[in-house]
Amino acid sequence: MDILRTGIHYGLHFVFPIFIALRWKGERFLKVYFILMATMLVDLDHLLAVPMFDPCRCSIGFHPLHTWPAIVAYILMLFFKSTRIWGVGLVLHMITDGQDCWWPCH
Ligand SMILES: [Zn+2]
Repeated sequence: MDILRTGIHYGLHFVFPIFIALRWKGERFLKVYFILMATMLVDLDHLLAVPMFDPCRCSIGFHPLHTWPAIVAYILMLFFKSTRIWGVGLVLHMITDGQDCWWPCH
């Protein structure tokens, strides 16, 4: 079960964005993929938590950049062309972290 959960988590974080970025060709593909990976920086808020990493903790609603006001801001970013790709990466990140909360943990 844990290996499935971990596989889905990191698949959504690193592999799924490849398929999103494939909508763009050549250099644009790399730029979009880089932006999608850069949205992972929201996990810097884990540095504020004690303990920093807890596999059974639900990130959503716990870490400051994973709270609902932040998530609303990420959704709003989808509506503006200049922030859309960042918004896609951030919303996908929240979905990825959110689906973790539904798995049983020990
Ligand atoms: Zn996260």
